[in-house]
Amino acid sequence: MTVAAVRQDAPSSSVPSSIPAPRVTAAEIDALFALPFADLMFRAQQVHRQHFDANAIQRSTLLSVKTGGCSEDCGYCSQSAHHGEAEREKLLDVAEVVVAAQAAKDKGATRFCMGAAWKGPKDKDLDQVTEMVKAVKSLGLETCVTLGMLKEGQAEKLRDAGLDYYNHNLDTAPEFYGQVISTHSQADRFDTLDKVRHAGLKVCCGGIVGMGETRRARASLLAELASMQPPPDSVPINELVPMPGTPLENAPPLDPFEFVRTIAAARIAMPSSFVRLSAGRQEMSDELQALCFLAGANSIFYGEKLLTSGNPEAAGDDALFERLGLTAI
Ligand code: SF4
Repeated sequence: MTVAAVRQDAPSSSVPSSIPAPRVTAAEIDALFALPFADLMFRAQQVHRQHFDANAIQRSTLLSVKTGGCSEDCGYCSQSAHHGEAEREKLLDVAEVVVAAQAAKDKGATRFCMGAAWKGPKDKDLDQVTEMVKAVKSLGLETCVTLGMLKEGQAEKLRDAGLDYYNHNLDTAPEFYGQVISTHSQADRFDTLDKVRHAGLKVCCGGIVGMGETRRARASLLAELASMQPPPDSVPINELVPMPGTPLENAPPLDPFEFVRTIAAARIAMPSSFVRLSAGRQEMSDELQALCFLAGANSIFYGEKLLTSGNPEAAGDDALFERLGLTAI
């Protein structure tokens, strides 16, 4: 069965939840990557237009609420205490977060994401984050947090505070994961994702490409994401931003067309999910971003900073939207 047959002809809303969708295989996604570029883009556009307004883009703003000093050793991350250069900061006050969230809303963001550099939150820290969630929610914004691994009961506390989305990425393919991270396993990540789903929160889960993985590994990452029951509501596709001092600082750049292919394959494999053009956008030309939107990306991070890396100026994004006739959701 092809990815198209699995996903395109069977939108999740028409499938009784008691019948799990068939697993999408890496071989199926690999076959999409191998299509001629124009054919892949055409397929992605067809799927995109069946499920979304192809000219509407959702905008989220991301704030680091606790930066640096993380115990984990993710090879791409400048916040790791093992190799990172990000200055260690304490958890922000709720008032500081509210100011940033209001500014993001004023610029047009509809979702406010808060990230903390931890293996996982201590209960005392989680209490402060739940206060942030309540305060941001009261501004009329959707809320998302990314706090690492959750213990029993923590997802429910976040849900009860009004949280909409929990972000926890698979990062990369199972077969490549051990080359990037050693302090926690991908199984640990699935465990947190299960807790999030079980609590009734929406799942934001994606990965990073351009870390030296093979095309087959990129296909394998997308197959894992598409095989979740159901697939994530939101799928951030990040391109590695090589950060000084990290083990991946000299990773060879990915061919831009391969990045666009990754977006297109994600769109076809997960037709009902928002596919977010995430880290790496600052390094992309307007033309490359336009190709990504054509390939089915329909969400961006909006605002000048992404945790510790840069992001395009909001005014630049507004101008690009205007030139492409895109509207904000
Ligand atoms: S990605 Fe997250 S868990 Fe990994 S080192 Fe960075 S802050 Fe820590």
